[in-house]
Amino acid sequence: MSIKNNLQFFLQNLPPDCQLIAVSKTKPAEAIQEAYDAGQRVFGENKVQELVPKYEALPKDIQWHLIGHLQSNKVKYIAPFVHLIHSIDSFKLLEEVNKQAVKADRTIACLLQLHIAEEETKFGFSEDEVTDLLASAELQKLTNIHIAGLMGMATFTEDLEQIRREFRGLRGLYERLKASSLPPNVMMRHLSMGMSSDYRIALEEGSTMIRVGTAIFGDRKYDQ
Ligand SMILES: *Cc1c(COP(=O)(O)O)cnc(C)c1O
Repeated sequence: MSIKNNLQFFLQNLPPDCQLIAVSKTKPAEAIQEAYDAGQRVFGENKVQELVPKYEALPKDIQWHLIGHLQSNKVKYIAPFVHLIHSIDSFKLLEEVNKQAVKADRTIACLLQLHIAEEETKFGFSEDEVTDLLASAELQKLTNIHIAGLMGMATFTEDLEQIRREFRGLRGLYERLKASSLPPNVMMRHLSMGMSSDYRIALEEGSTMIRVGTAIFGDRKYDQ
């Protein structure tokens, strides 16, 4: 299957309220250009040092999403152009994103990453931490960020029911927050969950953004 065919499969089968993020990490600019020529405009990368040269080399109407763990000292390199950061996992990081957004004279949209998996290695807030964060007065002082929703990664397991439970838990939090009173710079609009191996379950559980790499671009030679 070609990149174009793979993309068409997703674009034809996704519900209208769900967005496809084409995850192009480790893939060369030519592969991204091929997806672009097939109509895809939204791409996700997990490393700043890979994202910046791709941003510079590729068409300027691409929306770049940062989906991987982000270190505070690297925010400045993506602040001028990044469309959405999926991986906010601390207040300190949010403060840095705000600071760099002020410098770049723009508002940066962010998702809060929730730790929903069993594995220790996956980053993210707990539910309680998110609740506290959204209630804090400090958050409202961050004038140049916009919290647009939540993101989570399920456990890497064959146990489909476990994956479903984890996604369902995240959806529940998303809906509760959406129905609650939120600060002016927060609005629950996106629920980013689902990758190549589990996007079907994620869609059934209410995902509004799936982040798909392998199923579009093929296997990666080296992962992460
Ligand atoms: C790599 C990656 C994906 C996509 O993974 P695939 O299995 O290739 O679809 C999604 N989300 C994050 C955070 C990733 O790092």
